[in-house]
Amino acid sequence: MRKYVIMGVQGSGKGTQSQILASDLDLVHISVGDIFRWNVQNHTKIGAMVRRIMAAGELVGDDLVESVVQDRLTGHDWNYGFIIDGFPRNRAQAEFFLESYDIDGVIVLDLPDSEVRRRVLNRRLCASCGINYNLIDSTPKVPGRCDSCGGELITREDDTEEALAVRLRDYHEKTNPVLDLFRRKEYVFTVDARPAPEVVKEQIRKSLGLPPYKGDEGEHAASRGPAGA
Ligand code: AMP
Repeated sequence: MRKYVIMGVQGSGKGTQSQILASDLDLVHISVGDIFRWNVQNHTKIGAMVRRIMAAGELVGDDLVESVVQDRLTGHDWNYGFIIDGFPRNRAQAEFFLESYDIDGVIVLDLPDSEVRRRVLNRRLCASCGINYNLIDSTPKVPGRCDSCGGELITREDDTEEALAVRLRDYHEKTNPVLDLFRRKEYVFTVDARPAPEVVKEQIRKSLGLPPYKGDEGEHAASRGPAGA
């Protein structure tokens, strides 16, 4: 049983890398951002509560986030473990989390802000299946259409200059201090997120003490590009 947290600034590839690791190790992948986006898309009550907050790049309140995470963790059958992405984002969430779960590793994807801006502003998302693309080095075969399902590629509502500035500020002010809390536990692995996703993927495995990746490279949907959330 493995329990991992993946952290990193927007556009560092958290979504991409956690999907790869999850499918490789049979882990349940929990992305708080994806859960909220699903709720917004499906016009649920939660969606109505978070839509504006997300579009502005702000953080959703801790109570709601914690109950969503708890629901997901208690509802899922995670026999082999989980990887959680986008949580915790501040000290209160980290304390809440550590009270209930032992963590085996915290992966931190490190990316300079200048590169974040370049990646995030070029990120596109398939409206149907959610695969991430970027217009720098993982362009779709047909412009504006998903290679996998033909769905429309859209820009995330929070991938704007304004929302990105808020998200970066929050990351440095609120999320970075969480690492100090984890660092005391000595299982934080920082990985350079600038290289190609395949390289980052191997570095993650190495830092977690896992053997090199042996999965089906060619068709791995999650290895498309570094623009993951
Ligand atoms: P992400 O896909 O991780 O960038 O998350 C998208 C948005 O969802 C964030 O900008 C927040 O508005 C919200 N969100 C996701 N995770 C959290 C969290 N742990 N705490 C508060 N808000 C969150």
